[in-house]
Amino acid sequence: MSAPTVTSVTAASPAARAGLAVGDELLSIDGHEPRDVIDFQRLSDGADLGVLVRRSGAPLPRLVRVDKAPGEPLGVEVSSAVFDRIRTCDNHCAFCFIYQLPKGMRRSMYLKDDDYRLSFLYGNFTTLTRFTELDAERILTERLGPLFVSIHATDPDVRAEMLRNPKGATSLRWLSVLLDGGIEVHGQVVVCPGVNDGAVLEDTLAGILDRYPRLASVGAVPLGVSRYSHEPDMRPHTRDEAVSVVDTIEEWQRVYQRALGHRMVFAADEYYLLAGRAFPSARRYGGYPQHENGIGMARAFADSFARPASDGPGGVRHGFFASVDAAPAEGYRAARLPTVPAGADERPVTVLTGTYGARVLAPLVAALGRTDVAVWPVANEFFGGNIGVAGLLTGEDIGRALQAVPGDRRCLLPDACLNEGRFLDGLTLADLPRDVEVVPCDGASLRLALDGTSFRPACAA
Ligand code: SF4
Repeated sequence: MSAPTVTSVTAASPAARAGLAVGDELLSIDGHEPRDVIDFQRLSDGADLGVLVRRSGAPLPRLVRVDKAPGEPLGVEVSSAVFDRIRTCDNHCAFCFIYQLPKGMRRSMYLKDDDYRLSFLYGNFTTLTRFTELDAERILTERLGPLFVSIHATDPDVRAEMLRNPKGATSLRWLSVLLDGGIEVHGQVVVCPGVNDGAVLEDTLAGILDRYPRLASVGAVPLGVSRYSHEPDMRPHTRDEAVSVVDTIEEWQRVYQRALGHRMVFAADEYYLLAGRAFPSARRYGGYPQHENGIGMARAFADSFARPASDGPGGVRHGFFASVDAAPAEGYRAARLPTVPAGADERPVTVLTGTYGARVLAPLVAALGRTDVAVWPVANEFFGGNIGVAGLLTGEDIGRALQAVPGDRRCLLPDACLNEGRFLDGLTLADLPRDVEVVPCDGASLRLALDGTSFRPACAA
């Protein structure tokens, strides 16, 4: 187990007053060694702490008294979210996107985690195949929810086959334990054509109603297939298959509504695009419980684009992470590249985005009747396959697209393309062949940009 290492200290905080510094290792708090930032948050929440600190160059650790009020943030950030080992997954799903990554990307991209703590902190999905009695006890005692569970199929054999792990047949018993214990859990089904669509999807939705009716929501999302996939049976959905998924989900929404009083299950935006169907109204997304999973994003975006002053999706969760003093975002939900409105810029505009985003944006921009605004879909040559989301675009692909945009135009890019200021291939804005403005991924911000407000990085002077 490694101790949390301080990466920043907030000025005038209890930690700063006590003399804690960047690089200090916090070995224990009041005699307890934190396993992760969840423990860390709980232990540091009390008043007046005794923190055992190891400082580089000092011969021995020393006990530091930290004066603070109960509930007052300690005022440090630490280097990782989990101080013992992140639990990695023991499955080998044919649809796993990690197996479809080329070599040479950031190390964190290849981490196959299956750790309920990362589910709680960041909204990552877990299959529960490595879940234990002790984990259940901790979750129920500390009320660690909401959690996010990959279901894929309720038929034990199909699930085990999809996860390529015999434990997949039985690990959903933990889902019952969590739900019976009153933990809020959201599920997802990654739908693979010819594997768990059609009759299997129907069976899964019936199984959920029968065995897991307390689930807060279930998202049906399509598998992503990159050109690096080595799985001959994994392929993108055809249009007819997408239509069938949308029909099945909407039919079961009616069943759930009658039985449970809410729709429970939602199809990913990508299915509506593939099927050529209009996105459901905001009301039918029931508070957008799976917004982060690409479900309802297009509807929420369109609504805030049409009515920039509206509050946006009310139910969007920002995760426990947002409220945890000390939790680092790196590798998971790192800040993209915070930008703020700056001066006015009246030049014509080109909005570059992924091919799916472009299909959402094009009709919204057309409805404005503006001839000075163009939407430019950037093909994902890097991953190929059916990868069309802006979040998986690389700097190289964007750079290539930018070369074709006339030089007198402003170029806008959604912030989803960046993670801590870098594209997936490690390039930064400075590596692009021309200036671009990064705009937050909501309709109101884009509308502001199209109306002549330029955006600049929040940290720029
Ligand atoms: S459970 Fe997730 S991380 Fe593990 S193999 Fe399957 S898709 Fe990949």
